[in-house]
Amino acid sequence: MDLLEYQARDLFEQFGVPVLPGRTATTPDEARTAYAELGSDLVVIKAQVRTGGRGKAGGVKLARGEEAVVKTAAEILDLEIKGHKVETVMISPGADIAEEFYFSILLDRASGGYLAMVSTEGGVDIETLAEERPEALLKVGLDPVDGITDAVGRKIVEEAGFMPDDHAAVIDVLKKLWTVFRESDATLVEVNPLVRTGSGQIIALDGKVTLDENADFRHEEWESYTETSGAVDLERQARELDLNYVKLDGTVGIIGNGAGLVMSTLDVVAAAGEDLPGTPKPANFLDIGGGASATVMANGLRIIMSDPQVKSVFVNVFGGITACSDVANGIVHALEMLGDEARLPIVVRLDGNSVEVGKAILAEANHPLITVKNTMDEAARAAARLASEGN
Ligand code: GDP
Ligand code: MN
Repeated sequence: MDLLEYQARDLFEQFGVPVLPGRTATTPDEARTAYAELGSDLVVIKAQVRTGGRGKAGGVKLARGEEAVVKTAAEILDLEIKGHKVETVMISPGADIAEEFYFSILLDRASGGYLAMVSTEGGVDIETLAEERPEALLKVGLDPVDGITDAVGRKIVEEAGFMPDDHAAVIDVLKKLWTVFRESDATLVEVNPLVRTGSGQIIALDGKVTLDENADFRHEEWESYTETSGAVDLERQARELDLNYVKLDGTVGIIGNGAGLVMSTLDVVAAAGEDLPGTPKPANFLDIGGGASATVMANGLRIIMSDPQVKSVFVNVFGGITACSDVANGIVHALEMLGDEARLPIVVRLDGNSVEVGKAILAEANHPLITVKNTMDEAARAAARLASEGN
């Protein structure tokens, strides 16, 4: 589960990581109040969305004076950044930035351990830096028990090339960020930029935190996060409906029966989308298992279609014990149940037990949203094309 920046800011503050004050607003009027409360003439207004590159997308702006702040907040609250509607902004006093650094701690699945990544060339897109100037990004494996001690902190600031004057303050912040990472059961704590201000203070100016949901049983305080998390919300709703659903980042919704079939459907859709405009990718994993009743199908379609990123849906079913005719009836009745909620084109591929009857049922229903394809490849291409055009 990814936290919004203001939630990461609050978390950092609890652990003593130096941050700037921050107030959130969901309307221009709230922005006015937040501005008054902050009492700083110059402020930065930042879109609170779970995606990077807000700055480039116009989601981070400086403003001076009440009128400009309210106007800028209104503009940012109107934005949609990479499919994420901006519902909240955070307002902070404008920072006097002398230098920007990058720091993160993450669970590195490749090495099966924790990793600290550091660069004295922060603020920029870190993926670009890692690709173009890998030597500027220091990676240090961390002992999972000790994490960042004084000694590890010292090694990091020296190897990363921080100025000697900054060492003590940076080491202190890194140690605290390790505590955030460990105590919060995080899989990622990223600060970009970590800055030195004109007066020499080291401050975490932007935070990204990913929490490991497997640990939610020991974090009652996470309750408040789940309410603001669209993706987690969908996954939780799906869990309550006994659906095996994982949200991904693409635009083609996927429903299939059997985990293996769904996994290969994800691959086939990703391949089909590779050369299309916007390179559509799978939006989710959803295995409806053996039963393909109308209710299960309707629940699945409802979850998938409530993901604002989704532009088309691919239902890929191989009839084994469950007959394709039951699945086809399930789809038709699900669409009746959903009514206007069913807003996206659905490509269906059926094969196996009672496939001809199933296809006949869909042909008979002649639903405007449904397209039937005979093979998995054809269906994947059609769904990817629809998602590409729908963008
Ligand atoms: P991101 O684009 O989503 O990573 O948003 P950030 O919060 O990291 O902001 C992007 C960039 O805006 C930072 O790297 C800074 O260069 C700049 N920025 C952010 N806050 C301030 C501020 O208070 N003052 C100034 N001058 N620049 C800021
Ligand atoms: Mn940033």
